[in-house]
Amino acid sequence: MPKADTFEDEELEALDDKTEALTLRSKRTERLRKKQTKKAMKMKDIPQDFLGLLPYELILQILTLLKPSELFRLQQTSKWFYEFITQEETRIARTVLGLRYSCLEKSFRLPVLLADIDPAIHSLLQTPERQEILTIHKKPYQHIRPPEPTEVCTCLTCTLRWSALAIIVDFAHWQEHLDKGEPIPMVPRGKFPEWNQTIITAHAAIVRKALYSPLWYARLLEVHLDSTTRSIRRHVANKGNKRRRFRMTDDDVNSGTDAFLTRSGPPSLDFPYHRDNYYLLETFVPNRSWSQDWSRWLYVPAEQHDRDIEFVVMWAERRRRAELEQQQAEGNVPGHTSRPLPQPEQA
Ligand SMILES: [Zn+2]
Repeated sequence: MPKADTFEDEELEALDDKTEALTLRSKRTERLRKKQTKKAMKMKDIPQDFLGLLPYELILQILTLLKPSELFRLQQTSKWFYEFITQEETRIARTVLGLRYSCLEKSFRLPVLLADIDPAIHSLLQTPERQEILTIHKKPYQHIRPPEPTEVCTCLTCTLRWSALAIIVDFAHWQEHLDKGEPIPMVPRGKFPEWNQTIITAHAAIVRKALYSPLWYARLLEVHLDSTTRSIRRHVANKGNKRRRFRMTDDDVNSGTDAFLTRSGPPSLDFPYHRDNYYLLETFVPNRSWSQDWSRWLYVPAEQHDRDIEFVVMWAERRRRAELEQQQAEGNVPGHTSRPLPQPEQA
């Protein structure tokens, strides 16, 4: 029919025109176009374009709402974020620690770097006699590599601080086993299998990062909060375990903060001397005890390191005097030993 033919012709003609128009308007193409635009925007330095519109301090505040792990991931997304977070690492980490880990921060303090201690005291800290005394805090641990005395302060407080941080990493390493109820491979006493040496060396390297980077330190506390909530959940699920434990709700876990650990709860400072202890370990939050009078946890103060350094100096002075007296008794007094020992600088 002519009408039909006309229609067909018109339709065909129109179809030619519409083909392009349809292509442009099709949902599929639209999606593709959006995807391409998005990709193109990503390729450009979008954070700079976008965040450049915001005041510097506001960007900083937004970032401090993120978890340390999220900040590390964000840092990998662009050069701009990498440089911004690196530049503001201390400020960001300090705020994140205050918002999320104010309790763990006081329990897991960082050991002091030797570089931050009066050089006159280095030799006193590193005397073989002192290192011998410290072996009691090093040798029995198969799951902790001790700190390097040339890098980290080896006063008793700092040695314990190092060990507590190393426990964070090791305890986190075995969470999968603990969740699945799989046994943790044990190291026979007096043996040093290569697999274990590899693990504890890697863990020591992570602890070292925390000594120099506040964001890594915050990351360690994030990891420990995760291990702690997982442990509490495991033990709650074990109906046979009726021990007293911290009250922890889903909201507590979702908050991503350690606020629930500030409530009263069972003592949390039992040190896991061996990986065997991990099976029953729920909350390892050392260096604090519950005060009935104040109805809150009291923490070992940061100044404990200074007290220990004073003790190290006193101990060395006592040894020096004893040696001097012995030499005097033997009638042999070398002049140089009468020099007084250096005193620690007061902060
Ligand atoms: Zn120290």
